[in-house]
Amino acid sequence: MSVDRTLTATADSKLPNPARAGLADKLYRLDGGHSLANDESVWTPGENVGRSIAFSSTCWLIQRGNQLLLWDTGVPESALNDPEGWSTLPKLIVYHLDKTLTDQLAEIGVKPTDIAYVAISHTHDHIGNMGLFQNSTVLIQRAEYEWIRSPDGPNDNVNQLKALARKLMGTPRHLRLLDGDTDVFGDGSVTLISTPGHTPGSQSLLVHLKNYGFIILSGDVVHLEENFEKDAVPSLNTDKASSIASMERVRRMISTCNAKFFINHDKAEIDKLKLIPAFYD
Ligand SMILES: [Zn+2]
Repeated sequence: MSVDRTLTATADSKLPNPARAGLADKLYRLDGGHSLANDESVWTPGENVGRSIAFSSTCWLIQRGNQLLLWDTGVPESALNDPEGWSTLPKLIVYHLDKTLTDQLAEIGVKPTDIAYVAISHTHDHIGNMGLFQNSTVLIQRAEYEWIRSPDGPNDNVNQLKALARKLMGTPRHLRLLDGDTDVFGDGSVTLISTPGHTPGSQSLLVHLKNYGFIILSGDVVHLEENFEKDAVPSLNTDKASSIASMERVRRMISTCNAKFFINHDKAEIDKLKLIPAFYD
């Protein structure tokens, strides 16, 4: 297959020019659930063996003009108030849900069917409610979509996550497979940033707001602020070198865009942020 190099240019060519990027209007945080894992060392190799850790699961809604984009769909709504919870890897982690996405969206008068785009950072525990958004166009990296359908590898946990991902993803009615960075609205207001490593098609999201400036939503490029500081790569990640390169890429973007960085699963940090119906603008 030949690749037209004039179209690929440099790796960062699809990133917005910070001085000229368009603006999204509002960014809302939604509570997508929370979880308790029994061994933090899976995420911090060599440290915290056997120590339990709580994570947040976070979804975000972006409004730009009259269009809405949801970033990730969280823990399945069927887990609501279920004391047994829901799990991706039952021996390691259990998720709980206190509020549904549907109810949280209703707080600002939005129905799931109103959402034009559902962008997915990656599969795993981030796609629990795809069935609610059959009207939406699903934006996912082609590498991720193909990976969950690829033959199993040596890591049983990863194989288990892929099987679950196939079930949760189903076959979206409106699917757009992406090849790398993608400027969703064509004006630099919302840009999906390729950050592979945790999974082959992981992505992060860069949003530009009038008052808060640039904000990067992590996806799972890191799970904890501490990992970002130490270049620590969880053992579940599919590619360690790519994981480190993606963290470095995000660091460069934070610097270039003077961006804030919101880490999806870092519960201590996430709990301090505004929650729907409050918003960043
Ligand atoms: Zn995750």
